[in-house]
Amino acid sequence: MVKAKMKNANIASILRDIAFLLEMEEGEDNSNIVFKIRSYKRASDVIANLSSNVEEVYATHGLKGLMQIPSVGKAIALKIEEYLTTGKIQYLDELKSKTDIDIDGFYGLEGIGPKTIKIVYDKLGIRDLSGLEKAASGGKLRSIRGFSEKKEEVILKKIQLFKKGRSRYLLGEVYPLIKQIETRLLKFNEVKNAVVAGSFRRMKETVGDIDFVVACNDVEKVMDYFVSMPEIDEVLGKGSTKTFVRLNNGMDADLLVVPEESFGSALQYFTGSKEHGVAMRKIALAKGLHLNEWGIFDNSQHRIAGSTEEEVYQTLDLEWIPPEMRENLGEVELAKKGAKGLPKLIEYNDLKGDLQVHSNSTDGTMSIEEMALAANEKFGLQYIVITDHTKSLKLTNGLDEKQLLDQANRIAEVNDRIRRVPDKTERQLINEVDLSRSTPRTKSNNFRILSGAEVNIMRDGSLDIANNVLDKLDIVGAAIHSNFSQPIEVQTDRLIKAARNPSVDIIFHPTGRRINKREGYPVNIEKLVDIANDTNTILEIDAHYDRLDLKDEYVRMAIQKGVKLVIDSDAHHPVHFGFLKFGIGQARRGWAEKSSILNTMPVDELLRCLK
Ligand SMILES: [Zn+2]
Repeated sequence: MVKAKMKNANIASILRDIAFLLEMEEGEDNSNIVFKIRSYKRASDVIANLSSNVEEVYATHGLKGLMQIPSVGKAIALKIEEYLTTGKIQYLDELKSKTDIDIDGFYGLEGIGPKTIKIVYDKLGIRDLSGLEKAASGGKLRSIRGFSEKKEEVILKKIQLFKKGRSRYLLGEVYPLIKQIETRLLKFNEVKNAVVAGSFRRMKETVGDIDFVVACNDVEKVMDYFVSMPEIDEVLGKGSTKTFVRLNNGMDADLLVVPEESFGSALQYFTGSKEHGVAMRKIALAKGLHLNEWGIFDNSQHRIAGSTEEEVYQTLDLEWIPPEMRENLGEVELAKKGAKGLPKLIEYNDLKGDLQVHSNSTDGTMSIEEMALAANEKFGLQYIVITDHTKSLKLTNGLDEKQLLDQANRIAEVNDRIRRVPDKTERQLINEVDLSRSTPRTKSNNFRILSGAEVNIMRDGSLDIANNVLDKLDIVGAAIHSNFSQPIEVQTDRLIKAARNPSVDIIFHPTGRRINKREGYPVNIEKLVDIANDTNTILEIDAHYDRLDLKDEYVRMAIQKGVKLVIDSDAHHPVHFGFLKFGIGQARRGWAEKSSILNTMPVDELLRCLK
């Protein structure tokens, strides 16, 4: 076996590379290859988001265990086995040997796919990202047939945005790996307490480097254990209380070891934000105290607090402030004794349903029934809405009027069926592999699937499905998926027209942004929020970690104006229900209370709140 490392990220990237290379080589009409590409992509996505360690699954259950991972069939399981036992995959090496393009460098570059890369390679010999950037800025791409000056400009802009984003990682991308390290630390005997601090703890949408704050008595033992973990690639430095490493996903991380009596102050200090910390230290000074990572000290250097965060805040006459609020945006004032008090934020287990879920009727990967089962059994939800794309979104095989109504009928049948106990195979799928990244909550035996749609907003703000059909569905979300480059007034009007449509309950991912990948289309959010309020239209926080749309500041704006919100996973696979926590994090960053988020309600109550 290869030197033990946390392999999930590596495996996911290998499978993704295979898909990429296959797509580059793909001929015009080879449905066999198309299917293959899709399987590799799907398996890569699942493994990247899996909380179980694939290597440990293999060590305990062998090839059979690998095949229990959702979306991993025998062919892919064999490749994973080959990688785990030999450290490489011959098939990938073969594919790679056919080209000298640096495919890893292109990964994540939104909107510039394998086919484009193949063309620029064939025509101009471009083999890496910097080559493509040079050619685009030097006006070389437009010489290729099918490439205009405009397209060249778009490519250049995308590369620049991509490069800018690379220094920070998406929270959801790194979450499983970081949590795994935290769990290992907590399980280690010598460790009294361990928490990931920094922007990770504040649930910021992107994170730079990672700080693990650990309380223990034996510093050396804990530091040795930390650097021996499979997730650690390289030790970059070591001090008496701090170890500095590179993780095997490329991120830098610090392990900060403190005695138990300083754990709270260290956690407070390293959680940040910087601005919040400055405000706290000012308050301490005004009281004649001194606050640092080791504790709160009085004039004669006696530690008077520091073992817990609560104690730190309390000593400064403040209510404990949730990490997601610590940005010095007014939270410190509210937390002061005698002030109004902090809002009571929505909790991570408050959601009862998910109102944007896709099935394999369009671009989802699993059946309605499989999605429902996972939502219920693994994530403790009580209801989901199936919101497949509609007909004008051709790329996803969007549904037309008849297909939507057929699907609604099918949902009614499935609702009857799922009341029964799942059979052995279904239960295996759910139980063998830990799909969730959080503990499942109480199961509900009254699980309900609602019919719905993610109806496409056309260029002029009309919808591509007639109202009399939409009115037969339980819940309708509308979203923009095309014509992004129109001026702000036009985009805002499209959304307003959709919000005024009596059949539209929710505006999905209102700005269309993809973090680090593309800026959204321009929208006058304030105006949209006002219209949403007037028309009783709900705005969505899309919890997919590359969207998180609405973002925190808009969440706060919407709530202040009394607009109701929902938090949806936008799941295309059961594993994606795990994204809901990122949406909740974003909502908490926007100071949302439970009452502002409608899918914290039981289904009947929710349905009564719609237009
Ligand atoms: Zn969408």
